[in-house]
Amino acid sequence: MDGTVVRRLGVVGAGTMGAGIAEVGVRRGIPTVLCDVAAPILQRARDRLQAALDRDVERGRLTRADAEAALQRLTVTVDLADLAACDLVVEAVPEDLALKRELFTRLDAVVPPPAILASNTSSLSITALAGATTHPQRVLGLHFFNPAPVMALVEVVPGRTTDPAVVARARQAVAALGKTPVEVQDTPGFIVNRIARPFYVEAVRLLAEQTAPVAVIDRIMRRAGGFRMGPFELLDLIGLDVNLAVTRSLYEATFHEPRFRPHPIQQRMVDAGLLGRKTGRGFYTYGEGAESGGGGEAGVPALPAAVERQAAAMRRIAVAGEGALAEAIVRAAEGAGLVVARGVPAEGPLDAVVDVEVAPAAKAAVMAAADRAGDPLRLTLALATSATAMAARSAAPHRVVGFATLPPWEARPLVEVLPALQSAPAAVEAALALLARLGKETALVRDGVAGVFPRIAAMLVNEALFALGEGVATAEAIDTAMRLGMNFPAGPLALADSVGPPLVLAVLDGLHADLGEDRYRAAPLLRRVVAAGRGVLEGAGRRPAPDAGPRL
Ligand code: NAD
Repeated sequence: MDGTVVRRLGVVGAGTMGAGIAEVGVRRGIPTVLCDVAAPILQRARDRLQAALDRDVERGRLTRADAEAALQRLTVTVDLADLAACDLVVEAVPEDLALKRELFTRLDAVVPPPAILASNTSSLSITALAGATTHPQRVLGLHFFNPAPVMALVEVVPGRTTDPAVVARARQAVAALGKTPVEVQDTPGFIVNRIARPFYVEAVRLLAEQTAPVAVIDRIMRRAGGFRMGPFELLDLIGLDVNLAVTRSLYEATFHEPRFRPHPIQQRMVDAGLLGRKTGRGFYTYGEGAESGGGGEAGVPALPAAVERQAAAMRRIAVAGEGALAEAIVRAAEGAGLVVARGVPAEGPLDAVVDVEVAPAAKAAVMAAADRAGDPLRLTLALATSATAMAARSAAPHRVVGFATLPPWEARPLVEVLPALQSAPAAVEAALALLARLGKETALVRDGVAGVFPRIAAMLVNEALFALGEGVATAEAIDTAMRLGMNFPAGPLALADSVGPPLVLAVLDGLHADLGEDRYRAAPLLRRVVAAGRGVLEGAGRRPAPDAGPRL
């Protein structure tokens, strides 16, 4: 490789990933040699490539001549020695350490340096693979995402023995393949598989706690969080078994870190063969006559007429609390023609008090003030405490209902409504009515600290801050990887700053206190950032890059 391009690409393993990576090579104009153990497997890979190219010709995305040229660039072989002239070889055989080590020993013998030998492994140690070769300095991880032709991200993973010059060349090679490289230390799950864990695991836990049904959790994550797919839709697409294997491997690799503990529900579903789309049933049912299929915007419930009428009848509310969320609610209420008091006035009548305080002591003071203001609805932000706990602090617990959302208010079409154990049905209706008047779609979820979206979001941010604090990757690499590798609407560190680190910490501390589990402990770096009173990304550039310090 002359430092800027890949002249010949080698790929070992013609399965899902290997065939995809070879497709990337030939489409980028790079002669590519694809190697597998049997000719029929290679024929299948070639057929799939041809079909993909034909589709592009039909859709006018590619000329017939370009498609044919791309196909001509692919050479298939069952003989590893045919990779000898490649300057980059990517291994994509099954995830088995012994198999991969044996393959690296053979590759090392047939592909001379300075060619780079890369592994597409998702979970095995790059250093352990490099140790099977005589030139471990030219071995590193290049972790592509599925489907490789579509996903823009490649995690570039140096092992302990990888030469920095090889890392630099590999980054250029990734760019030559039209992908975005992000560098990450050789640690369990790298960036994406690690930081994405709460998206799935926390959702399954919320389901197990009966916080909300599958379709409601998915809708909340799409409509409140802006995620392209809900966690259960994504689990069904990935396959519950594949996803469980990743979670389990992280859990084992970290000596049972509770943040990565798989949930028994998922294991039971895997045992029952409910693997998702590929078996016709997972969290949803697929195929003809299916009662559910996940996705889509169907299922947004219309509000009952009585609630609509109540929304129209509201006149005057009070908003208690400071900060961006309180300001935005005041603006929304005024925009909706309501008369808005800041703080709880002594004079009635009031339809509702919206309590946007977070700390329990401040919230208790709002409850006491609301008790003196007649009989308004008390709509209380349940981010660091449950609605039930706040209702217990009110003289009219049946009038207390929780809500959960995160700033910025304007960016979130959906707000969660959390009835307290004590809430009267009429109060829940009033809460739905008020939020409708404020222009929000609502989803009812069972009471608990932080509902669905704020809880999952806080856990995603927390994992990103653990990873950043451990020097797994730079802040920029983490956010880029999560956007490109997971299609997240924003990186988790940018999310932390848009929500505000103190609020994220309050949610985590509230979850930790309420659920009593170690998995909810806040990342030390989050506490430092909050103590320093600044944003996560502010000053992130001043943190030493992961490769500037000692390798863990
Ligand atoms: P796969 O089972 O679809 O394909 C593996 C291929 O390797 C098969 O065609 C098999 O015949 C071939 N093979 C086995 N032994 C071989 C040998 N000695 N020499 C040559 N070929 C051999 O697997 P996959 O899903 O493509 O995964 C491959 C690698 O990529 C794994 O390390 C996996 O962890 C990683 N990965 C997978 C995904 C994914 O979503 N599937 C995503 C990222 C990374």
